[in-house]
Amino acid sequence: MSNKLLEVKNLAVEYRTDLETVYAINDISFTINEGETFGLVGETGAGKSTTALSIIRLLPNKIGVVKDGSIEFNGKNLLEMDEKEMRAIRGHDISMIFQDPMTSLNPLETVGDQIAEALYLHAGGGAAKEKKNAGIFTKKMKRAMYAAVEDRVDEVLTLVGIPPARKVEYPHQFSGGMKQRIVIAIALACEPKLLIADEPTTALDVTIQAQVLAMIDELKQKLNTSMIMITHDLGIVAQTCDKVAVMYAGELVECGTVEDIFDSDKHHPYTTGLFGSIPDIENETSRLAPINGLMPDPTNLPVGCKFADRCPNCMPICCEKRPGNFVDGTHTIKCFLYNGEVQ
Ligand code: ADP
Repeated sequence: MSNKLLEVKNLAVEYRTDLETVYAINDISFTINEGETFGLVGETGAGKSTTALSIIRLLPNKIGVVKDGSIEFNGKNLLEMDEKEMRAIRGHDISMIFQDPMTSLNPLETVGDQIAEALYLHAGGGAAKEKKNAGIFTKKMKRAMYAAVEDRVDEVLTLVGIPPARKVEYPHQFSGGMKQRIVIAIALACEPKLLIADEPTTALDVTIQAQVLAMIDELKQKLNTSMIMITHDLGIVAQTCDKVAVMYAGELVECGTVEDIFDSDKHHPYTTGLFGSIPDIENETSRLAPINGLMPDPTNLPVGCKFADRCPNCMPICCEKRPGNFVDGTHTIKCFLYNGEVQ
């Protein structure tokens, strides 16, 4: 039985502006064990990135507010940590890879220097420097810190399949796929316990996507890293995940092992809709069945099931009450279709 690494309990997050409150996440709970990959899937606006930003505590200042819940990492509630404690965890124990590698890399520094900086900061050297210089390094300091971790930079580049000799090059000298490998190298440099990948391959060509995913999987196994894979692509989920949560309008409407999600004959109608919107390459005459309608306005959510107005199985109760979870072993479905079986 593997150890629990992350436990999110009853998390609720809002974005507050002068004009409105966006109810982005409403009461979500899930756990991730060591070495496990957890897929978070759902359409744009479902709350996937908000979940990730809440865990790594990078919600927009003052606007993003955790209303309720806890996020325990290795038994400690991240939401109760001060910014200093959180900085020690970010990048060291928990790393994040964003969608577009260009927004994560500094165009003015060589890739070797960027990996070295990540390694140096998290090897403890950063703390003293930070106090003295508020994160600003002189050229001399940089030279000394890069020299100290040079061998490790070579190792990390080799790990992601980039010849170490290329460490002296700048981001623009690499292709999109290679840039994303470098971002992954930086994220994995300190061997984090949890890697959060937010649509890590969306900006890449399909062939490069497959290579990068295979590489992430290999590294994850080598380092026994747990991972949250955020995607809207069920193919990626099937390929990389152990557990899956389907997110809709800020809720987890279905959770289970990858087998529960792909092999069970019981599903949330939204999950069924997601499967219907994947092209079936074995059946050329099959048609895509898009899910009609739009997600509800997150500033004014319905009282009942949030999927009710798009649901082909909608019943009167669905508009009146919020459904509970139907639980079947590792598989949970938040839907009145299984009402008699709700626990
Ligand atoms: P996803 O990652 O699944 O696309 P997000 O977590 O980005 O979803 O968004 C969830 C909801 O929160 C959406 O309704 C989105 O418009 C809203 N939202 C996200 N970021 C902000 C923000 N900075 N201010 C206000 N609303 C936001």
